[in-house]
Amino acid sequence: MWVALAVALAIAIVVAIALDTRRRRAVDEASDLRRQLSNEIERTAVLARERDRLAEAFDALQDGVIVVDDQGDLLVRNVAARAFSGTRRAEVLAEDASRELLESALRGMPSEREITLVGPPRRVIELRAAPLWERGRVVGAVVGIRDVTEPRRVDDVRRDFVANVSHELRTPIGALAVLAETMTDETNFEVMRRFAERIAREAERLAHIVDDLLDLTQLEANAGGEPEPVDVRSAVHAAVEQIASAAEAANIELHVASIDPHVVIRADRRQVISAVSNLVDNAVKYSEPGSVVDIDVDVGDRRVGIMVRDRGVGIPTRDLERIFERFYRVDRARSRETGGTGLGLSIVRHVAHAHGGDVSVISHEGEGSAFTLTFPLVDGSATIASAPEETVT
Ligand code: ADP
Repeated sequence: MWVALAVALAIAIVVAIALDTRRRRAVDEASDLRRQLSNEIERTAVLARERDRLAEAFDALQDGVIVVDDQGDLLVRNVAARAFSGTRRAEVLAEDASRELLESALRGMPSEREITLVGPPRRVIELRAAPLWERGRVVGAVVGIRDVTEPRRVDDVRRDFVANVSHELRTPIGALAVLAETMTDETNFEVMRRFAERIAREAERLAHIVDDLLDLTQLEANAGGEPEPVDVRSAVHAAVEQIASAAEAANIELHVASIDPHVVIRADRRQVISAVSNLVDNAVKYSEPGSVVDIDVDVGDRRVGIMVRDRGVGIPTRDLERIFERFYRVDRARSRETGGTGLGLSIVRHVAHAHGGDVSVISHEGEGSAFTLTFPLVDGSATIASAPEETVT
């Protein structure tokens, strides 16, 4: 009886110990699982944070980026790339191009393409696609989309500029060569003198073009120059003074309205005088003898406008947009005759823009032109006083 009881007790103890061991193991396993789970959750959170950061970084890029997996399914399309997806014609074109490039990248072939999206606004975009490799296998592809409208425009302008400069310099150089050659066979002193005069005129033209080019280059390099308070009245008078003798020779009267001496702008004085004198010079060049040119200043709340108005040949409407381009001339022969370089108005526009101002024109063919050059006004500058006109020539 005792023995049976002892055996039963022993069995109970062994079973209890075994059960306890299993329970503990289960508890250990459960806590292991819990740890693994929380590690996994932590890892997933870290991955999600990294993915969000990566998405933010992609969105901060100016270039569009699209990433697809090996099946061509979309993984990433950043903000810039979204601008090229949609239903408008330009967007469909851009999307078709990036799809084609991605397809070829998924076949292991990197490629690039430039397409022009006829606007408005007209845009040129460059697409570059590349496969994404992992252990020798293509696991996806990426395409970068860049708006290259501005760099292409600058390239075109530069190319045109070099071509124009070469052409403009070639003409007087060619004339000089011909004149000099003809002179070598000439014995008549009077004819030689006439040739020499023409050589001097062509040389002057060359010097004028080079001076204007240097001015433009300096303006570009040095944008607004050294800004100082410039009293508009004295700057306008200095500019008009520079053209006074040419106006007198052409029998053209320069009327300068009375200008308040307290109107002040912050600018490079030399540049302001150069811009105004270019406008007055043109007004004289493109007017008939006996004509009058008005120079006036209009002061607004924040801006001051310097106006030069002539009653000359005027500018055809179709040319109005282009006259501020370098070397653009409505009537090449007349411009050349008057010693023009085609650079004057580009200098004027440069000066205006470099100082936060602008230049505009209203013109009617056969009636005359009115150019307005505006500059931001220095706070506290006086308003214009209306007083009688002053006549310079
Ligand atoms: P240019 O040295 O030939 O005068 P600009 O750049 O000063 O060059 O002017 C460009 C062109 O704009 C001129 O060739 C001329 O055709 C036209 N233009 C400029 N100012 C006037 C004006 N006041 N009246 C008529 N045409 C003008």
